[in-house]
Amino acid sequence: MSGRLCVGCHLSTAGGYAHMGRTAVGLDATTFSFFTRNPRGGNAKALDPDDVAELRATMRAHDFGRLVAHAPYTLNLCSATPATVEFARRAMAEDLARMESLPGNYYNFHPGSHVKQGADRGIELICEGLNQVLEPGQATVVLLETMAGKGSEVGRTFEELAHIIDGVQHDELLGVCLDTCHVSDGGYDVAADLDGVLAEFDRVIGLDRLRALHLNDSKNPVGSRKDRHEKLGQGHLGWDCFGAIVRHPFLRTLPMILETPNELDGYAAEIAQLRMLAGEDVQPAAESAPSSVGGTAQACAKKGDA
Ligand code: ZN
Ligand code: FE
Ligand code: FE
Repeated sequence: MSGRLCVGCHLSTAGGYAHMGRTAVGLDATTFSFFTRNPRGGNAKALDPDDVAELRATMRAHDFGRLVAHAPYTLNLCSATPATVEFARRAMAEDLARMESLPGNYYNFHPGSHVKQGADRGIELICEGLNQVLEPGQATVVLLETMAGKGSEVGRTFEELAHIIDGVQHDELLGVCLDTCHVSDGGYDVAADLDGVLAEFDRVIGLDRLRALHLNDSKNPVGSRKDRHEKLGQGHLGWDCFGAIVRHPFLRTLPMILETPNELDGYAAEIAQLRMLAGEDVQPAAESAPSSVGGTAQACAKKGDA
């Protein structure tokens, strides 16, 4: 990989895999995220090998880093309803099997909501599910996303994430994706004290587990537990926070995914701004922004719970 940031945004799978790759290139992105299946459930389409091969060629030609696929946020490994848990396990196992045709990337998921069972029971169920679906030797690392703590979400605190990792047998297949909006809403003040939050992450989980970032500003102040994403620089985190992240010697090496409420031209502008803050040469955003390629990419950001 080159020394450029590995940065991109959430894209729609509607046009296929190769199309997402071309869209990313048009945004000057070097990674992206996508839903592995329709968030409303149902069966996932089988992958077209030619489509995937073309995406892989694009990724090689343009020095992409790892992709950060996103499980549908409707999956809940720790639901109080056994059928829901069963569906989540089956869907994750299928998604991971399909990801083997796109090896070496990440699969990010929301640990789940324990509803009224309590966090301890939630963590137990999440571990059971992961122990069932992770296949030793698989080419995909599964990422637990840090959550805002809305409702009964598990994974707001670093301690909960550490407990999940502790309870999984093949923990070499697990990492963490830190969502800046979520951790701030969850009470970790990344805007005021990025180094302090990272030190806490290192103490509780270990910084080597941190594999990817979701870069989102937040509509709400630290500790709000709301999970409402905002465009970069327009919320409570601000550009100073994102500038510090892209200049941080460790964080700048991680894949960074935007899930901000934007159309493609807005994502192109945010990517250009992040590259500029990181000290890279960038073309003017207006030149590299294909405003109508590939439809809207904000499905998850709009719902505020990606
Ligand atoms: Zn979110
Ligand atoms: Fe998410
Ligand atoms: Fe996220």
